[in-house]
Amino acid sequence: MFRGPWRGQIDLARRRYYLMVMALRTIITLPDPRLRRKCAQVPAIDASIRALMDDMLETMYAAPGIGLAAIQIAVPKRVLVLDVAKRADENATPDPHCIINPEIVWASEELSTYQEGCLSIPDFFEDVERPARVRARYLDQHGRAQEIEAEGILATCLQHEIDHLNGILFIDHLSRLKRDRITRKFAKTAKLDGPSRKSGAGKQDAAAGPEA
Ligand code: ZN
Repeated sequence: MFRGPWRGQIDLARRRYYLMVMALRTIITLPDPRLRRKCAQVPAIDASIRALMDDMLETMYAAPGIGLAAIQIAVPKRVLVLDVAKRADENATPDPHCIINPEIVWASEELSTYQEGCLSIPDFFEDVERPARVRARYLDQHGRAQEIEAEGILATCLQHEIDHLNGILFIDHLSRLKRDRITRKFAKTAKLDGPSRKSGAGKQDAAAGPEA
C-alpha cells in the first residue's frame, strides 16, 4: 500500500491484518482549544506510536490532505505525517513521510508564498509567506535519526505541521483582521454544528489548494 519507508514493514502475510487495524480518526477543527496545545516530545517509538502514524496516514489520505499533525486527531504528541506527491499528480505513487520530534535546524532567508489550507480549518485558503527552504532533524517510524532538506511545497507543509505541534495555526501568519474574521466564522458554525467533523465529510473545492 505504501512505498518507500513502509515497504519493509508490510510483509504479505501480515498485510490483511495491517490494513484491518488502521482506522480513520476524527479531525478536530477550529475553535477546538486542543489545537492550541503545545505537544509533548515522544520518549520512545513503540508499536502504539507506529499504529498512531498508520491511522494518521489513513486519515490524511482520506481527507484528502497533504499533511497531518497528531494533535489534529486530538493526540498531543510531536508526531506528524506528510505526503505532497499527489498534489501535482493524482496518480503519483504515495511518498509518505513519518516524522517524530522534528526540529527545524536551518531556514533560508529567501521566502516563498503558497496558498495554504488546513484540515482543521476546512474550506479556508489564504496565501502565507514562509522560508522557501528548511532543514529539519527528526526520528522516523523506526526511531532512526533523519535529516531532511525541504523546498517548495514540502518546505511549506513541514513548517505548517511543525507549527501545529506548538499550537500555531496558519491563520496566525495572516493579518489580525483576517484571523479574527475566520475565527469568528468558525466559532459561530461550531455553535450550530458541534466542534468536529468526520474526515472526508464536506465537499472540497477541487480548484482550491491542498489542506494540511
Ligand atoms: Zn493544518
